[in-house]
Amino acid sequence: MAASRMRKFAAGGIALGGTVALASWVFGDDNHTKARPNKPFPTRSEQLKALEEEVYDVLVIGGGATGAGCALDSVSRGLKTAIVELDDFSSGTSSRSTKLLHGGVRYLQKAIFNLDIEQYRMVKEALHERANLLEIAPHLSYPLPIMLPVYKWWQIPYYWSGIKMYDLVAGSKCIKSSYVLSKEKAIELFPMLRKDKLCGAIVYYDGQHNDARMNIAIALTAARLGATVANHVRVVSLTKSKDSEGQEKVSGARVRDEITGKEWEVRAKCVINATGPFTDSIREMDQQAVNKICAPSAGVHIVLPDYYSPASMGLLDPSTSDGRVIFFLPWQGLTIAGTTDTPCEVTHHPSPTEADIEFILGEIRSYLSPDIEVRRGDVLSAWSGIRPLVSDPNKPDSQSLVRNHIVHVSDSGLVTIAGGKWTTYRSMAMETLDAAVKTCNLPAVRGSATDGLLLEGAHGWTPTMFIRLVQDFGLESEVAKHLSETYGDRAFSVAKLAALTGKRWPIVGKRLHEEFPYIDAEVRYAVREYACTAVDVIARRLRLAFLNVQAAEEALPSIISIMAEELKWSEDEQKRQHAEAVKFVREEMGQQVNRQSRDKIPINLSREEISNYIKRFQALDHDKKGYISINDIRRGLKRQGESISGTMMHEILREVDVNANGLVELDEFLQLMACIKSGRVTNSRFDQLAQEAQKDAEEEEAKRKAIPVDRSGGGV
Ligand SMILES: Cc1cc2nc3c(=O)[nH]c(=O)nc-3n(C[C@H](O)[C@H](O)[C@H](O)COP(=O)(O)OP(=O)(O)OC[C@H]3O[C@@H](n4cnc5c(N)ncnc54)[C@H](O)[C@@H]3O)c2cc1C
Repeated sequence: MAASRMRKFAAGGIALGGTVALASWVFGDDNHTKARPNKPFPTRSEQLKALEEEVYDVLVIGGGATGAGCALDSVSRGLKTAIVELDDFSSGTSSRSTKLLHGGVRYLQKAIFNLDIEQYRMVKEALHERANLLEIAPHLSYPLPIMLPVYKWWQIPYYWSGIKMYDLVAGSKCIKSSYVLSKEKAIELFPMLRKDKLCGAIVYYDGQHNDARMNIAIALTAARLGATVANHVRVVSLTKSKDSEGQEKVSGARVRDEITGKEWEVRAKCVINATGPFTDSIREMDQQAVNKICAPSAGVHIVLPDYYSPASMGLLDPSTSDGRVIFFLPWQGLTIAGTTDTPCEVTHHPSPTEADIEFILGEIRSYLSPDIEVRRGDVLSAWSGIRPLVSDPNKPDSQSLVRNHIVHVSDSGLVTIAGGKWTTYRSMAMETLDAAVKTCNLPAVRGSATDGLLLEGAHGWTPTMFIRLVQDFGLESEVAKHLSETYGDRAFSVAKLAALTGKRWPIVGKRLHEEFPYIDAEVRYAVREYACTAVDVIARRLRLAFLNVQAAEEALPSIISIMAEELKWSEDEQKRQHAEAVKFVREEMGQQVNRQSRDKIPINLSREEISNYIKRFQALDHDKKGYISINDIRRGLKRQGESISGTMMHEILREVDVNANGLVELDEFLQLMACIKSGRVTNSRFDQLAQEAQKDAEEEEAKRKAIPVDRSGGGV
């Protein structure tokens, strides 16, 4: 790392209430671990109090990557800064991305073929930002090798030269060099790949990250430097006042705390609109008749089990036969798959459709070996994210922009930043603040200082730091690794909150769900980092809802009871939080569409299968009532020596109870069996229970048949 880029901040003297307290900046000093800021963050009520009392240089609307980046850039210039987000930080598009930090291989192709210098610059800038992110948040981002399968011989030199160009443009920022693979080697590294027609492959490197955590880390770093950061605070209108020349200028915003409903005005010399797909709604608060600049377009992702991709190799086809992009990438121990976006309506709660999910599954099938059955039931979660595709408001034909993003200043001084991509949030923020400082004549004490500025958790982090967590706290290795790679050097503060397990090993750290390394302490820590709702925790603070909807729902009761302790929730509030979170996983994380689509599956079972399943059904239907009740399920589980909570019992029932009458009728059971046969449902606990009951019934039957004649009491 070049010494000139080492601009780390020293903590100390970080004041509450948004008072800028950049105590000292260390230029050219690599000893940044000493500078690790340690103070707890101001509480949310302290942040809200500051929002009411202070007058800010800059108020940023929107707590996605772009808004958080603007807040950090602003405070790094010594400006008094506030940021408000109507939901949680990263609740919008920024938590729903493909998780790639990339320069854009496809843009480079365009730049070369069209000799387009602007496209070239855009790729170059994004590659710089990619490298910067790997440096400022090494605990959250890492290089990922991505394979491009090649199906025609002549494409090998064509793709290879393109990818080599990508390395060359990156220059000193190149993560690792790309290389060509023979067909055999490609299959060795990506054994799931379809072999026929494959000629070889090219592997190149991009970055990958945990997008929501990265977003939160940016917002928290701004808070560390003295910015007022407030989630669940919505801007309901803009306020204006006349300047010295009698011109109406934006002078702040009226905001509402979405938790309490309280409204007040925040005063600021400059307001930045960084609301992503909602950019036009804020522009309309400024001027009623504005040319819309945002054309929303939605991209859907699905999550599949780990066995769909190797642990550390992604696959991407940048131009399928019909011109789309298809990718599947390992992420957090599972596989993310998706494809190109389609136009959509803008909404705060985008949800994937069954057609989107089926389309991705269909595409994946054509890349994977025919012996891998791509099953609908393997989809663990699915989400939709809205991309703000922007155009220039000053061009009447709503032409799209070369640089993908726009910084626009309205007549009344509202600064809007929209479009772009995650990877370039920092350079976009820098451009925005340059415009804001100039337009609003802000008293910046320096230019942007975010290039090379370490994010929350990065200061003392090393890849082997997790070993200390295991040794010092008695955490499981998998848990310690997860904490280290999420919170960086803050993982020690998280571990301190971990409850004793009561077991010999691990000593502390109760898992919230047995399949994931998330622990109790993270929920308590999340509250200290401004998590306010159960959805904040399952979706952004832990990535459970994105990884596995079923597991997220199962972990909810434990999460809510910890949050209830921390936030003093009443019984009613806990119920409300549970209902909200269940709604979220069902509607936004794809659980509902799975349910709806499988309820429509035709019962395509053979006569023998049906008669076998009727026997299985009857084995659970204890007293031959014609339906299976909750008591039958409870009895079945007891027979297997399992004690089970009421919530879990209802979950098992819900797997099969289509008409939601609390009973399982034969047609519902046969429908479940048809879904299992078609691959639409996997791992049904209800069926496992029924199978066990059938086995027991058959064993009893066999015993009855085996009574010898001499013990039968005679009679012959
Ligand atoms: C499917 C998909 C995949 C992508 N993958 C990648 C990728 O792999 N790599 C990459 O670099 N880029 C990727 N992108 C692009 C990237 O995700 C976006 O460019 C980026 O997240 C946009 O961030 P943002 O902050 O502008 O918007 P958002 O994250 O949507 O943030 C805007 C915020 O403003 C808030 N807001 C709205 N109205 C108000 C109000 N009135 N008051 C207060 N707050 C308000 C919203 O709640 C929201 O949180 C992807 C985009 C999509 C759609």
